[in-house]
Amino acid sequence: MKYFITTSIPYINGEPHIGHTYELLAADVLARYARSRGKKVILSTGTDEHGGKNEEKAKELGKSVKEYADEMSQRWRELGPLVNMSNDRFIRTTDPGHEQRAALIWKTLSKFIYKGKYSGWYCTGCEAFVTESTAKANKGTCPIHNRPYEKIEEDNYFFKLSSFSKQISEAITSGTFRIIPTTRKNEVLGILKEGLEDISISRPKEKISWGIAVPDDPAQVMYVWFEALMNYITVLGYPEHPDFKEFWPADVQVIGKDISRFHALIWPGMLFGLGIALPELLYVHGFINIEGKKISKSLNNVIHPKEVIDKHGVDAFRYYILRHTPSYDDGDFTWEKFEAAYNGELANELGNAVSRTEAMIIRYQRGLIGDIPPSEHDSAGYHKYLADCRFDRALEEVWEQVRGLNQYIDEQKPWEIAKSKDEEHLRQVLAYMCSDLLQIAELLLPFLPETSAKIKDIFGTGIIKPTKGTLFPKTIQQK
Ligand SMILES: [Zn+2]
Repeated sequence: MKYFITTSIPYINGEPHIGHTYELLAADVLARYARSRGKKVILSTGTDEHGGKNEEKAKELGKSVKEYADEMSQRWRELGPLVNMSNDRFIRTTDPGHEQRAALIWKTLSKFIYKGKYSGWYCTGCEAFVTESTAKANKGTCPIHNRPYEKIEEDNYFFKLSSFSKQISEAITSGTFRIIPTTRKNEVLGILKEGLEDISISRPKEKISWGIAVPDDPAQVMYVWFEALMNYITVLGYPEHPDFKEFWPADVQVIGKDISRFHALIWPGMLFGLGIALPELLYVHGFINIEGKKISKSLNNVIHPKEVIDKHGVDAFRYYILRHTPSYDDGDFTWEKFEAAYNGELANELGNAVSRTEAMIIRYQRGLIGDIPPSEHDSAGYHKYLADCRFDRALEEVWEQVRGLNQYIDEQKPWEIAKSKDEEHLRQVLAYMCSDLLQIAELLLPFLPETSAKIKDIFGTGIIKPTKGTLFPKTIQQK
């Protein structure tokens, strides 16, 4: 069984921060989960590198655009390994392979492409065409970039998105193209009810030169968004490569809520135009705030994940982001909340369950565990939550089991049993604790891969292999 999962590819202009890690981690959990179930996985991520904004920025810095793109792409690329993301591919839209395949896709879509005149507004900051009503509502200035919209009147190519409205809506309502959460799905269906308009998909080269040339019209370059979406199939070698034939359609595409229109409307339109299947599932996540505020340079509240990971380890970081960001909503990072989760849930609950079990088996049985019974816990809820991308709930399920184990230890009081000299009973109780921990380790594998491996290492062989130190040392002073 194959499993293809993608993240969106971030636009390289801008600095990666903690908010960008949610998507990488969500996709990584699903990929690791699929691998653990024996599937053949491709997890793809990358960077989106064309467009006027990068051209502007490079000029400002006195660099060539290519030089600038190389530097920035590298900075984004480092984010994956930092959070222990297990991506198999990293695509850059400036890769020659992507550029050539993009031209091929354009040609294949040509029956749905026509030349016309675009007259309207554009924000280079957003690299987006802006409708008259939006421009009016914002009084002519982009609220995100605080710069006036440019009035443009130019020859563009258009894509007949309007002709796919019905097919897209049917795919969504019938569930062949799932969008979760439901709130996002309903937003998309709301837009579809109005019917889709054709979209402009190119810019004149004289205005934006940093882009992929439109085939047979060197005076035009592809609109960066239109071209970036193609990465999801160019990365597999569309149309002829065996990977494409084997792995498309994507099982899951993970994106942020700000770009759901591109992925739920334009992208499916393109796929219908190409005559290939839509992804099975689009998972739309929220944003991470810091102390309740949007992460922004101007608020000076940017936290790089490295700050957290250097102090407390990558699994603690992964844990906080995945458990304490609501999977269907926005989340909030504060050092206080992070430390509370670290001390309470990781050190006190999970860490203690592991160290108590380990210590007692060493003390009472010289490290010998003996036969470990299979775990009796029902993990159906956990699997259901993962199928629905409810990472927060799936981890909650695991933690219920962790708490249950601590409670079991408190109730059984193995130290009392040891005094009573009932060795067989003691051995059974301790073996049960091991069995529970091994199952917990299995369930944690997609989320906290290092911790999962450590737990399996300690208890997995029938003889305790003592850990050096504790899993989550209390490096944080409790206030
Ligand atoms: Zn803007």
